[in-house]
Amino acid sequence: MTKTPHEILKNVFGFDSFKGRQAEIIDHAIAGGDALVLMPTGGGKSLCYQIPALCREGVGVVVSPLIALMRDQVSALKQLGVRAKVLNSSLTQSEAIEVEQQIRKGLLDLVYVSPEKLLSESFLNLLEQCQLSLFAIDEAHCVSQWGHDFRPEYLQLTTLNARFKNVPRLALTATADGPTRKDITERLDLGSGRLFVSGFDRPNIKYTIVSKEKAKQKLLAFIEENHSGESGIVYCLSRSRVESTAKWLTAEGFKALHYHAGMDKFQRQSNQDTFIKEEGIIMVATIAFGMGIDKPDVRFVAHMDLPKSLESYYQETGRAGRDGLKSNAWLAYGLEDLAKISNFIESSNAGPEQKRIERQKLNALLGYCETTRCRRQVLLEYFNETLENPCGNCDTCLEPVKSFDGTVAAQKALSCVYRTGERFGASYVIDVLLGNDTDRITQLDHHKLSTYGIGKEYSQNQWRSIFRQLVAKRLLQVDIEGHGGYRLGDNTKAVLRGEETVLLREENLSVKTGRLKNKKSGKQKNSVVFDNVQDESLFDNLRAHRRELASEQKVPPFVIFHDTTLVAMVEEKPKTIKEFAQLSGVGKAKLERYGNSFLEIINEIE
Ligand code: ADP
Ligand code: ZN
Repeated sequence: MTKTPHEILKNVFGFDSFKGRQAEIIDHAIAGGDALVLMPTGGGKSLCYQIPALCREGVGVVVSPLIALMRDQVSALKQLGVRAKVLNSSLTQSEAIEVEQQIRKGLLDLVYVSPEKLLSESFLNLLEQCQLSLFAIDEAHCVSQWGHDFRPEYLQLTTLNARFKNVPRLALTATADGPTRKDITERLDLGSGRLFVSGFDRPNIKYTIVSKEKAKQKLLAFIEENHSGESGIVYCLSRSRVESTAKWLTAEGFKALHYHAGMDKFQRQSNQDTFIKEEGIIMVATIAFGMGIDKPDVRFVAHMDLPKSLESYYQETGRAGRDGLKSNAWLAYGLEDLAKISNFIESSNAGPEQKRIERQKLNALLGYCETTRCRRQVLLEYFNETLENPCGNCDTCLEPVKSFDGTVAAQKALSCVYRTGERFGASYVIDVLLGNDTDRITQLDHHKLSTYGIGKEYSQNQWRSIFRQLVAKRLLQVDIEGHGGYRLGDNTKAVLRGEETVLLREENLSVKTGRLKNKKSGKQKNSVVFDNVQDESLFDNLRAHRRELASEQKVPPFVIFHDTTLVAMVEEKPKTIKEFAQLSGVGKAKLERYGNSFLEIINEIE
């Protein structure tokens, strides 16, 4: 071995120290051990196999399910001076032959291959004749039917153990629930390897949930105040909502694109590429978008509709802030979401057991949305992790929720649901509670009910909040056959008799909406902020230079330098090449290629 892992970390990647369990994992792989690595997005999985591949003799073979992902990883490695190539269906035949020859001649440090390519007999034969440093199986959850992204080809990866007994195998994923973990171990035959599990907290992500009334205006205010000019993803449930939201954001002056599975393939690909390559783009998408996007500077993920489960929420929001800079996860949810998702569950073809699990998952998600506790604590508990203290970086920590004794309100709501026949949705029941004079109410004689007009102490929005919470507490159930009307839940008697107190969160109804009047009012809190104008303009100049270099080379800007490194340039203001080399994210190759031109910009200021 010529270099130590630490030397490679510094010289090639430009980092001073390992993150989390990286060092242990790397040592284990260098010693020839197999491992399953579970690490949250942004945890630094890539280094866990890239460094051992550079330390050990031979080529490292990385299996990855997505072409875009392979391409970006390889262009980032090339920038670092690592000899890396992709081998998949995007290459022409002669390009593929050339890569195979380079592998044969031992000219590559790493090769990224699709599972189909890897498992072809001719390629396996080729590999058997070569010196291999390791196999890395990225997105290893693809081997599990429990995971959200099952790929049948992944099942055949067991072959690797049988055919390449002495080559270490590392399986890596950010999805780690129990059944998936077990599946990966069994199906990839990793039983004798080590398991490395990192904590799932993403401290740089701030979690916020708002109610869905005026959701668009709230989104607008959220983006303007926190993320003007930054990249983000806005998730919507349906294709039509994706399209209309993207159009609307564009009309509001943002650079927004859309993405969903129903689009023309070419257009979809082109929108994805633009999102990765350009800065400040908002991608409005269904959940078809995101897997395998490892853009480090996605500054926010906004959900305009409720995600499917807390797992999906964690996965989707996890795409924000991979580079560790301050980022936001924002969600707007309302009663209509509950009806929609319950409907999905009940009308699906799943068996009763599966439906029961899905109902439980929905309830966990509602509990999270309606909690008065620290969101991060609730989220991590769901993944069996404990966070000792409230995080201080979520909406409920920053603006503690007041709760009130809502027993009487609950009683009114429940008996109104009961007296109207347990078949109406929230809007109708609330109309009755408020004593509104609608044709429907008159027609059905509901103005004669004892519950008519007994709820005037709350506004319509307050009632909506109360109804959401009653559903989250399972005092009300969404009744599917009755088209989303409510039924009383199982445990309502005690509440109606006044034997049980219902504590409700007081909705903050004064949430800001709409545009900022004065953009330069200093109200904006972008993820990257400096406390003086010179630094801000230096940062802008560095970004512009990075953009230029990136477009010359047709690579995404973050492949040249991450935002974190540009921030370090602004903060440290290196004067010499030697000082520049000390910055985090500056390795030897990048120092040689870019050191002088960035230094010039830094030294221009003064
Ligand atoms: P993952 O694949 O687990 O989502 P990545 O491998 O993409 O994570 O790494 C996430 C980010 O952390 C990247 O921006 C990477 O450059 C950075 N990173 C990884 N390891 C280190 C380290 N030891 N020191 C500083 N930054 C690191
Ligand atoms: Zn918190």
